Amino acid sequence: MANRAYPTDTRIVQHTGGPQTWKVDADICVAGAGITGVSAAIEAARLGRKVVLVDGLPSLGGQAVNSIIGTFCGIFANGDDRYQFTHGIIDEILNDLGASDDLYYRVGPGWTTVFYDEIALSRWIERKIQEAGVEVILGAVIRSVEFENRRVKKLHIATRYGDVELSAKGFVDASGDAVLAWLSGLPCREPAQTIYGTQMVVVEGVNEEGAPSREEIAERIAETASKYGVVREDGLAFFFEGRGTVGLNMTHMETPLEPMATSAMALEGRRQADNAVKLLRAEFPETFGECRVRAYGLPGIRQTRWIVGKHHLKVQEVIDGTEFDDAIARTAWGIEVHDTPENIIWDSFGTGHVHYVPLGSLTPPDADNLVAAGRCIDADISALSSVRVMAPCAAMGAAAAHALDLAGDGSIHQIDMGDLRTRLKDNLERTDHYRDEANPKNAAA
Ligand SMILES: Cc1cc2nc3c(=O)[nH]c(=O)nc-3n(C[C@H](O)[C@H](O)[C@H](O)COP(=O)(O)OP(=O)(O)OC[C@H]3O[C@@H](n4cnc5c(N)ncnc54)[C@H](O)[C@@H]3O)c2cc1C
Repeated sequence: MANRAYPTDTRIVQHTGGPQTWKVDADICVAGAGITGVSAAIEAARLGRKVVLVDGLPSLGGQAVNSIIGTFCGIFANGDDRYQFTHGIIDEILNDLGASDDLYYRVGPGWTTVFYDEIALSRWIERKIQEAGVEVILGAVIRSVEFENRRVKKLHIATRYGDVELSAKGFVDASGDAVLAWLSGLPCREPAQTIYGTQMVVVEGVNEEGAPSREEIAERIAETASKYGVVREDGLAFFFEGRGTVGLNMTHMETPLEPMATSAMALEGRRQADNAVKLLRAEFPETFGECRVRAYGLPGIRQTRWIVGKHHLKVQEVIDGTEFDDAIARTAWGIEVHDTPENIIWDSFGTGHVHYVPLGSLTPPDADNLVAAGRCIDADISALSSVRVMAPCAAMGAAAAHALDLAGDGSIHQIDMGDLRTRLKDNLERTDHYRDEANPKNAAA
């Protein structure tokens, strides 16, 4: 043993009195650090606001990172005219992850999706949040909300290191479950039928040479699912070409808003995922015979509880492409409802289709400083399924930041819509294509 002076000193400490509480103040508090909350926080910080971003998980990125969603949907117009709907952080992600070869464009039958490496996205988010000067409080569960005179005043937050009281002028509810609206006692919606979540899995060690097409895999899953105990019959396998990895979206489990049941369903999701891997190994031994699970995501949650806003977005408005005066985001993603264990409803839109999200769907009528964004805005089940994909989520986050910035100490219901639309015009009007000259293969076809 080296003749080393090992550190030995300690000090005695003892917990006395009540809970330890830290007090934090912000201009804008963003609850939830998924793609929506990250977009809102970066946008608000770049507007010069003091921003605090809170998440119950110990890491940033919400489902985009931690549930390993793996694919950006809703960025591009459908058909031949594939212009880009959402800009802001989406431009930066396409540029930066494109440059590091962490993106892969899939130009599908009518629509374009963008696969991403979730670890690269996770680091991108962390760097950008730091650079923007956003204060983050992670591992921080919002337990209660003080709501008075139409305003959210303060959040009470529990962390493993003590409690935090967080005050702000404006709040973005990007929690996915409408936690701020719910805990403020405002009316919320839940689906009147089960909407299923998915346990995503990434497998590695896949032999890409001569691999079956996505369609062939889907067909075989449908034929053989029950033989392997795979509940979902229309599962999908996403190859990230050149890496020998495949993301599996092949399970369906319930995601109830109840702690014990939801924990049990997380385990059920992993059981189903293991069965899905068994199916692929047995049915496609050349391709998947040597594969193993690299990572299980956190349970993927689609639609649980959302706000009642000034406007309830309806599926007919999505189908008609209704252009609202207070539009703040657009997309052309299809209607994608996960409403049975076995199958989903998937109706895509053709060339030229655009549908819009109005600010009214983000704003509870009885609150002046609360804007919901992402998968907890007001819509019917099918309409929500078409606007909760990540590109419009990012656009909604940016819109929430600008709406609260314009409102200041006043009411989001009294902001000048003309000013807001001017600020958001890239996400509402631009029709130019994404082009990355340095990495032409990353340019959407
Ligand atoms: C399995 C699955 C596959 C999908 N596939 C795609 C796809 O291929 N492409 C695509 O674009 N979209 C896809 N979607 C949809 C998309 O991923 C989500 O709708 C989107 O990521 C939602 O982002 P968000 O920021 O609104 O919410 P989330 O990412 O859910 O973030 C909400 C955050 O709020 C935090 N939070 C919640 N409650 C509290 C609380 N009380 N206290 C503190 N923090 C709290 C959570 O920890 C979480 O990090 C998929 C969804 C699922 C579930």
